[in-house]
Amino acid sequence: RGVMVLAARKSVAKKKAPKESPNFARLKPGGFLLVVSGPSGVGKGTLVASLMEQRKDCVFSVSATTRAPRGKEKNGREYWFLGEKDFRAKTKQGWFLEYAKVFGNLYGTPNHEVEGKIKKGKVVVLDIDVQGGASVRRKRPDAVSVFIAPPSFAELKRRLVGRKTDSAEAIARRLATSAIELPQYVHYDYLIVNDDLEAAKAQLIAIHDIERRRIERLSK
Ligand code: 5GP
Repeated sequence: RGVMVLAARKSVAKKKAPKESPNFARLKPGGFLLVVSGPSGVGKGTLVASLMEQRKDCVFSVSATTRAPRGKEKNGREYWFLGEKDFRAKTKQGWFLEYAKVFGNLYGTPNHEVEGKIKKGKVVVLDIDVQGGASVRRKRPDAVSVFIAPPSFAELKRRLVGRKTDSAEAIARRLATSAIELPQYVHYDYLIVNDDLEAAKAQLIAIHDIERRRIERLSK
């Protein structure tokens, strides 16, 4: 990745400046992929929902999953709910930008949720696990990635127990996965420590806003 970033910078340096003064009002911010990852129970969903509400140029990428719908989840809104056979067939057809097994179920980002929307100048927001984050960074080095971390492992445990949605066994499994996921933060572009929800929301919005200003993504 370091080499790629360097290559990108060099190409920017080589770019010729236009002879005439540009019409700045006409330069539009370009779209990009915004990957948000972090362990289960860290408050990722709340932060992403707040970004979507505050920034209308964002579109949420609806993933496909083989897990059963929970509560009021609606097909096509939170997830595309697929049977395992259908999901496997779609992986073979190259339907996914990335997919991974998370807590025993398959999850994947359909290409159609991403391509096209970025070209239209949208910020496509992916709420995906750490394995998915790694795949996206490999395939799309231009993606912007944000890792949401708890202030500590003990605090994460406290939150998972407190939300009372999982059995003791499920909590133990989520914590074991988190212990593997947390050190992966070093591969992301940005880190948000979610100890104060309002501050964390503001930080995610700030990352969006600053990335929108990148000159290399501006289009006429
Ligand atoms: P949940 O079942 O609680 O909605 O999600 C479980 C985990 O799967 C979360 O960490 C979420 O970020 C992740 N996830 C959701 N969609 C995708 C996806 O398309 N790809 C990958 N790799 N992970 C996903």
